[in-house]
Amino acid sequence: ADMAMYHTKENGGNNYTFFEHHMNARVVQKPSIETDLQLALKRQEFVLYYQPKINLHSGAIVGVEALIRWRHPQRGLILPEQFVRIAEDCGLIVSIGEWVLREACKQAKSWQDAGLSFTPVAVNISAAQFELTGFLESLADILEDTGLEPRYLEFELTESVLMQNTDTTAFMLKALKVIGIQLAVDDFGTGFSSLSCLKHFPIDTLKIDQSFIHDITQATGYLDDAALVIAVIGLGKSLNFRVIAEGVETHEQLEFLLGQGCREGQGYYFSRPVTEKKMLDLLKTGRTKPF
Ligand code: C2E
Ligand code: MG
Ligand code: MG
Ligand code: MG
Repeated sequence: ADMAMYHTKENGGNNYTFFEHHMNARVVQKPSIETDLQLALKRQEFVLYYQPKINLHSGAIVGVEALIRWRHPQRGLILPEQFVRIAEDCGLIVSIGEWVLREACKQAKSWQDAGLSFTPVAVNISAAQFELTGFLESLADILEDTGLEPRYLEFELTESVLMQNTDTTAFMLKALKVIGIQLAVDDFGTGFSSLSCLKHFPIDTLKIDQSFIHDITQATGYLDDAALVIAVIGLGKSLNFRVIAEGVETHEQLEFLLGQGCREGQGYYFSRPVTEKKMLDLLKTGRTKPF
């Protein structure tokens, strides 16, 4: 049988190509993954999974993050690490991102209409998407069409967005804030954003990157991850940011975070990202399992 596979050149980047392998491994067809992604959008092969954000004390669901997956007809479920970078590099992230935003807003509104959840839905926004003129207009259209109040929408931006540190970035972030959209820095601590970014941009939340949470109970490197995490929690406290720990996988990590006064977390310990249907069940309960 034919097997479809993506190959990446060792130098990474966007050199992904689509091969059709036969028994003799002869390459018959080689359209680019860009074409493939474009078709995927048209054929509605993208789907959103949702992962809850948890109040670490009560176990209550305090938010929901939308995470894209590609339901490939041959290859099954493909994770974003396999295609988001490529979509960013070829510009397709703009239309994919628009789809994600619309879908997430639609979903959040329908949970609200069912009386289930009035927590914000968080959407990951790429720098390439954010920079584009037209982003605000498209956002306005989506909010109007779906009827979701902006205060129930949160954007997760990476430090690379903030680092651009331009007037445009500042203007955009301020505009989003004025509308009422919540702003979070994703993977905080892995990029090169500075304290001055935090000072000049209207950020609400810092999401501590999962790599720091992973070794929180072990000593590695020059500085313990534990010490770094404690510092970020302290930063949040003094500078008035909400702080959320990503990638909480164990009870020890939860205990540590609680002990240090971190109030919110997200991770496999509570729930993996789940389908819309499973998220509905979680929202009906209002909390996740370990609680
Ligand atoms: P992210 O926004 O930092 O999302 C967290 C990632 O960590 C998700 O991977 C999630 O499934 C995973 N995760 C959550 N809890 C745990 C845990 O306890 N342990 C471990 N090991 N992992 C955990 P996912 O869904 O594969 O997404 C990866 C990245 O792809 C995201 O990182 C985000 O940067 C990007 N991404 C996902 N969806 C979108 C999207 O709609 N648009 C854009 N632009 N980027 C997206
Ligand atoms: Mg995120
Ligand atoms: Mg993250
Ligand atoms: Mg990440």
